[in-house]
Amino acid sequence: HSKRIGGDRIDVYKPAMRARKSDRLTLESELRRAIERQEITILYQPIVRLEDRSVAGFEALARWDHPKLGRMAPGEFISIAEEIGLIVELGMFVMDQTAKQLAIWQRAMRSREPIFASVNISSRQLLRHDLIHDVRTVLSRSSIARGTLKLELTESLVMENPEHAAQMLTRIRELGTGLSLDDFGTGHSSLAYLQRFPFDTIKIDQSFVRTTSRGTRPVILKSIIALAHDLGMDVVAEGAETDSDAVELYQLGCEYAQGFAFGEPMDADAAMRLLTEERLEAAS
Ligand code: C2E
Ligand code: MG
Ligand code: MG
Ligand code: MG
Repeated sequence: HSKRIGGDRIDVYKPAMRARKSDRLTLESELRRAIERQEITILYQPIVRLEDRSVAGFEALARWDHPKLGRMAPGEFISIAEEIGLIVELGMFVMDQTAKQLAIWQRAMRSREPIFASVNISSRQLLRHDLIHDVRTVLSRSSIARGTLKLELTESLVMENPEHAAQMLTRIRELGTGLSLDDFGTGHSSLAYLQRFPFDTIKIDQSFVRTTSRGTRPVILKSIIALAHDLGMDVVAEGAETDSDAVELYQLGCEYAQGFAFGEPMDADAAMRLLTEERLEAAS
């Protein structure tokens, strides 16, 4: 009940609230400065093919290295960036950097099927901003293989305004990007309904991927994979943490997985080393 203001409690809670409010304002202005100066770090987490465990692509995940508080996860600053109206700038930075990085990886890996990279898109970027323009700009600035930049959007995001989202996503896809439905299963909409959006990939949320307290996989996992395939979509399982996660996912017909079992989010150089070492392994 700490949120309630009024009655006797106000004297007790006021100083603490005031302190928190000023911390929050400081954090906001520090984040504003960090975004304006592009002081956001991007880590890349491998997405692997379960068939041979080769790297198919990477997901870009933002970090903020705060001078005093240390490295901050997106859960601690993305919503602030949304509230202070800087998520469009942040999102554009992540998209642009990732596309440039992807071009570097693809040039280094010329002999193999081009890897992809995916970036997370926030509600405001899709609904209240000309994302089409930003995507076109990013694609024109970097020479990446068509279809290898992917955008990840959650179900709840597209459901905020389904008509608008469907139109926008169709046009964005025509520019030559991939579209992944992120955290699938957490938003309660049916895959059949989601067919109206031009997603080519679904990413199954961690909560459906890992074993339950009874040591079994959620029964629905198998059906989600099968249905996604019936709808012509690729499937990525999120949060694969153990080798048995990977083995069982493959047995269930899932073709891609992402998770600590294959690698934590890493910097661009480490990602490059992963690709190069993998190539050496494949050659030997
Ligand atoms: P997400 O898009 O679902 O990203 C996957 C999250 O799961 C990442 O958390 C990743 O580090 C974590 N993860 C990966 N493998 C495992 C695993 O095996 N076990 C567990 N327990 N977790 C795993 P992270 O980096 O903290 O990002 C959290 C969320 O923040 C992301 O969820 C995404 O929604 C958002 N986010 C990250 N970067 C950006 C960005 O640049 N823009 C926007 N708008 N959102 C972002
Ligand atoms: Mg994501
Ligand atoms: Mg996800
Ligand atoms: Mg998630």
